[in-house]
Amino acid sequence: METITSHSLVKRKLPSRPSFVPELVYFEPGALDYEKGQRIYKWVQEQGIPLRMTTSHNRITNLPGDSELEQYKIAKRTLVVGVRKTLKFDTSKPSAEYAIPIATGCMGHCHYCYLQTTLGAKPYIRVYVNTKEIMEAAQGYIDERKPEITRFEAACTSDPVGLEPITGSLAELITFMADQEYGRLRFVTKFHHVDSLLGLQHNGHTRIRFSVNSKYVIKHFEPGTSRFEERIEAAAKVARAGYPLGFIIAPIIWHDDWEQGYGELIESLAKTLPPEASQQLTFELIQHRFTKTAKNIIERRYPRTKLEMDIEKRKYKWGRWGQGKYVYPDEKADALRLFLSERIFEHFPSATIDYFT
Ligand code: SF4
Repeated sequence: METITSHSLVKRKLPSRPSFVPELVYFEPGALDYEKGQRIYKWVQEQGIPLRMTTSHNRITNLPGDSELEQYKIAKRTLVVGVRKTLKFDTSKPSAEYAIPIATGCMGHCHYCYLQTTLGAKPYIRVYVNTKEIMEAAQGYIDERKPEITRFEAACTSDPVGLEPITGSLAELITFMADQEYGRLRFVTKFHHVDSLLGLQHNGHTRIRFSVNSKYVIKHFEPGTSRFEERIEAAAKVARAGYPLGFIIAPIIWHDDWEQGYGELIESLAKTLPPEASQQLTFELIQHRFTKTAKNIIERRYPRTKLEMDIEKRKYKWGRWGQGKYVYPDEKADALRLFLSERIFEHFPSATIDYFT
């Protein structure tokens, strides 16, 4: 029997987060007319995952589970394979011109995730098999705007890296965008499953960003995602593969010892990343915000969350389309922005901070 010493515990590498395997899969019959649909269908059968048919990927009404909470948890492990019918893209400011729809929903359980509000009663994970039609629509948007560059964000409604081992959709988009003089792709992730992307021809037209945070935030609010060390290891790999790299620090949370937490975060990025990472490195900084609707949903779904959502301690920011958001009051937001900007430029003097919001 192996003797476990404190030394062996320190030295031993924690097991890697396995890639996502759903527990239940629905198919729209039309999805089987596509090669990708056929491929996923075969994989689901080989894995022995229960499989059901559905008339529409937008109407899954018979999910198992006795309570709303139970159904929510099951939905997060349910994959729905369908055909994307709406090929009109949403805008995606400030990080890109358009959101490119390859998936909706995510298996992560980040307490603060805005998908909880935007996906409403449909938290299951939808992937779209008609990538070719989606890319043709993207081509239309690029042609319309050229010679301006058009940027597409692939992670507005999902975390596509976590789904890449099943779909391969990012690889298709990256290869497509490599040939686009006026098109660029970007996505952000909390997962580390990037290996299939490393050898692709990308021509620097895809920026891969990793969502990172202080240890406190990752530990308390990001269950179901890859560990910080795995994300950084993946970031180093994509930098070595020549991809432009970025980090999104979001949500920035004012917690006890936040200065220490965020200081350590930037230091460990500087210590771990290879020199290639500093070329064209970008940061996007987003302070924590919530709406009243989000607060209600989060308190129902994660009743023991430590996420601070005290309206009294926040500033109300009017929304352009309807309900406003609660952000930190100016003095706290300024302190967070200043502290992080200083640490970033201290360790990465040639990096760009795209925005703080
Ligand atoms: S990984 Fe991203 S998309 Fe998934 S639950 Fe967390 S915040 Fe939401």
